Amino acid sequence: MTNTLNVDSNEIAKFEALAQRWWDKNSECKPLHDINPLRSNFIDECSPVAERNVLDVGCGGGILSESLAQRGAHVTGIDKGEAPLNVAKLHSLESGVAVNYHRTTAEELAQEQPGYYDIVACLEMLEHVPDPSMVIQACADLVKPGGDVYFSTINRNPKAYAFAILGAEYILKLLPKGTHEYDKFIKPSELAHWSRHAGLEWQKITGMNYNPIIKKYRLNSHDVSVNYLVHLKKPQ
Ligand code: SAH
Repeated sequence: MTNTLNVDSNEIAKFEALAQRWWDKNSECKPLHDINPLRSNFIDECSPVAERNVLDVGCGGGILSESLAQRGAHVTGIDKGEAPLNVAKLHSLESGVAVNYHRTTAEELAQEQPGYYDIVACLEMLEHVPDPSMVIQACADLVKPGGDVYFSTINRNPKAYAFAILGAEYILKLLPKGTHEYDKFIKPSELAHWSRHAGLEWQKITGMNYNPIIKKYRLNSHDVSVNYLVHLKKPQ
């Protein structure tokens, strides 16, 4: 079900259900833990995060938020799911890595804090919202002129279906069945179109590829056919 907030409550429910296992590296959240060093390095290399105001949109249990805070960023994490945010808050207390967590959407926060953040990251979330273009616009509104924006999501083509749904959910069972819906996957060209429309400038794109033999992910700028990560900038 969808409401005017651009939030799909069925999608939120999926993440509420797995919240307790968010920080268990042997659970269905393992893929997020596995890709996290790759994406935090990518972000920190493109735009060093230390002492910067960073917003993590759709932060879930806070895996990316904490890793950027550990690198010295002042991180705000937002999510619409109550259980993932509670887990994120609790984990931050236990780990001693400070993050400000709020239960809100990018669209709502953009009304309150336009142009406030140096860096906005919205990773593995766009494929779970009814209208990704609205989230992209909100992220563009939230970042400062000259600031950096990052999106990651899943491409839409037969290979992405085979890897991200059949492979990850049915064969390797890395993710619960039903985690992803093929129709919601996003082609890089669509992301580029919506980002351009939101006034963001494309910097670079890289793939995040999974090798099932060695069970490892790596960044690969030559293959964006399944999971990919994009860096954009808001002009000065
Ligand atoms: N970005 C995190 C978590 C990805 S899982 C990471 O990569 O580690 C997707 C998250 O997006 C879930 O926690 C879900 O609750 C949240 N979410 C989905 N739709 C949302 C929306 N419209 N606004 C805010 N959060 C949303």
